[in-house]
Amino acid sequence: MTTVIEAASPHTMNTYGRLPIALSHGQGCRVWDVNGKSYLDALAGIAVNTLGHNHPKLVPALQDQVAKLIHSCNYYHVPHAETLAAKLVELSSMTNVFFCSTGLEANEAALKLARKFGHDKGIERPEIVVYEKAFHGRSIATLSATGNEKVQKGFGPLVEGFIRVPLNDIAALKKATEGNPNVVAVFFETIQGEGGVNPMRAEYLRQIRQLCDERDWLLMIDEVQCGMGRTGKWFAHQWAGIVPDVMPLAKGLGSGVPVGAVVAGPRAAHIFQPGNHGTTFGGNPLAMRAGVETIRIMEEDGLIANAAAVGAQLRALLDARLGKVSGVREIRGQGLMLGIELDRPCAALTLRAAQAGLLISVTADSVIRLVPPLIMTSTEAQEVVDILAPLVCEFLAEGNPAP
Ligand SMILES: *Cc1c(COP(=O)(O)O)cnc(C)c1O
Repeated sequence: MTTVIEAASPHTMNTYGRLPIALSHGQGCRVWDVNGKSYLDALAGIAVNTLGHNHPKLVPALQDQVAKLIHSCNYYHVPHAETLAAKLVELSSMTNVFFCSTGLEANEAALKLARKFGHDKGIERPEIVVYEKAFHGRSIATLSATGNEKVQKGFGPLVEGFIRVPLNDIAALKKATEGNPNVVAVFFETIQGEGGVNPMRAEYLRQIRQLCDERDWLLMIDEVQCGMGRTGKWFAHQWAGIVPDVMPLAKGLGSGVPVGAVVAGPRAAHIFQPGNHGTTFGGNPLAMRAGVETIRIMEEDGLIANAAAVGAQLRALLDARLGKVSGVREIRGQGLMLGIELDRPCAALTLRAAQAGLLISVTADSVIRLVPPLIMTSTEAQEVVDILAPLVCEFLAEGNPAP
């Protein structure tokens, strides 16, 4: 018997425009819905399922942890938190970590760090530079930092203390902050995710690092989506050879178990003192075990190199099949974080792709986003393109009016 999925759910709040699909289980890069239809997963729960589904090394480790201790609380030490923090410190060349459960919480902590950094040096009304098209979350402070009016609409008054600038324009950044003694930090995603897979150029990242050093600002990089190996380095900013002062992480860190973290370097690591910040679930034993095992498996199985290699293959296949198609504006991104920008809104493609057995998303109205599990193989990458390319060509040939 087929289970019919209602368009709207009667009891959960109407916060998401959901597809009429309910997923049941998965294996590797493949998932099945409650009716047994299978899908190739090029979305990974929005850049979350780093190790795909039912990973043979992750599942027994989590089962072991669930049977031992799920939650203790931050009155006590959590040994796996020390292990995970030490690992993140090693991978990032930074020094200390605060754990929470989600991306917005990690960003909220970063914003608090920046403000206290300012207050500690006598700046009473600290201001933080943020970017056009940025996405940092949906709490009141992080939606205020977000550069998307749709996210902000209806939730004013917004939190003050943000200065917004365009991407990749160091002159604009200097001009917007000229003579302003209240600036304390610059805050951005190395590759904007929700904003449409928009990368910051390596040269620009180095220029900002230098400016932050000269002016004693914190360089805060939101790697919630582009971090954790997705681009073929542990953290996307590492392609530019820089080290930030503050780096929020979440999404892929626990491979599906909610884990957030704020990694800090020496200039930011000692700003918080007891009583300044905290969260009940942050750093709990199950979440920490998920983080420790995710990184261990990524290292053992060479998933950073895989993300780089399969990402490059996926990119080359997309370029070959769609690069010259009229209506395709640009294919961009790095590793397994790729965007295909069309010249028109294309949200309809998410359902069409699902019907054809492929999970993707469309963000910023007209950008198809591919953020598959980092275990994706070359064969699966080929399959993604074999399903997606004809759908895109068909969609564009329908001649939906380009704006
Ligand atoms: C998803 C995302 C967030 C918010 O994370 P949540 O876990 O949904 O709160 C913040 N920043 C970036 C870059 C993201 O992609």
